[in-house]
Amino acid sequence: MTSRTGEIYRVDWLPGTDVLHGTCHCGAEHTAQDPIEMWEWMLAHPDGHAPRGNGS
Ligand SMILES: [Zn+2]
Repeated sequence: MTSRTGEIYRVDWLPGTDVLHGTCHCGAEHTAQDPIEMWEWMLAHPDGHAPRGNGS
């Protein structure tokens, strides 16, 4: 399911921890204990985002 803007954000709690695991629409992943920090990271895209799968 995608949003109207085509951007996909996904945030899950890591089971058994207080750690949030987020995936940006660009494929970058980030972990944080603070939901606000997680949102700031997502909104800062592409700052600090390093999608995996680009083998350079
Ligand atoms: Zn991103």
